[in-house]
Amino acid sequence: MPSLAENLESVRENISAATRRAGREASSVQLIAVSKTYPAEVIREAVDAGQELFGENRVQEALIKVPALPGSLRWHLIGHLQSNKVRKALPLFELIHGVDTTDLAKDIDRIAAEEGMSPRILLEVNVSGEGSKHGFSPENLERELEGLLALPRVQVEGFMTMAPLAQDPESARPYFAALRELRDRMSQKSGIPLGTLSMGMSGDYQVAVEEGANLVRVGSAIFGSR
Ligand SMILES: *Cc1c(COP(=O)(O)O)cnc(C)c1O
Repeated sequence: MPSLAENLESVRENISAATRRAGREASSVQLIAVSKTYPAEVIREAVDAGQELFGENRVQEALIKVPALPGSLRWHLIGHLQSNKVRKALPLFELIHGVDTTDLAKDIDRIAAEEGMSPRILLEVNVSGEGSKHGFSPENLERELEGLLALPRVQVEGFMTMAPLAQDPESARPYFAALRELRDRMSQKSGIPLGTLSMGMSGDYQVAVEEGANLVRVGSAIFGSR
């Protein structure tokens, strides 16, 4: 069994190889080590191996782990956020990935104003149209984007998506490409860069990097299966 440090090293190498294939700079992609369900001791092993950016999907779990680990670490919320957890989430996370409705974005904006914060967010897009997935449909996003970009506190930095579960990573490519094309179009239309694309998990992050991801969310390929 490879160690956690070896897993991390392989994922890093695979990401750089994918950036080279795509003619991109290695520094244009950041690896989020998705540490959900793993305790602080295991996360510390990843920290010892040089990892500083982590992803959690539950606010309750992050409330326990974040204070137990070095303050120099950076945390992203990658899962669905409930409105009643926004106030607790804001001080923990530097980026909130899964903003999937206009109502949630407005709740975040209102609470951020009360707390004197300007949170960075990504809008989740359901590119595949699978009913089980959270996120704006591409059409809905086009309709809502102007209003979302006008929210005074919230800073929309880009989009996030999850491809349908599949054995073959190549089957995710059209969804990742579609998110990039949607972003390019929305960025042209709005004049706002929307520079961040969060896409790719353990099974498909290399394809996601080839298609323009700059944040990949990798859990089990680093920490082992949950
Ligand atoms: C759990 C999770 C991941 C990581 O999944 P792995 O397959 O373990 O890499 C990525 N993104 C989201 C939103 C997740 O919930």
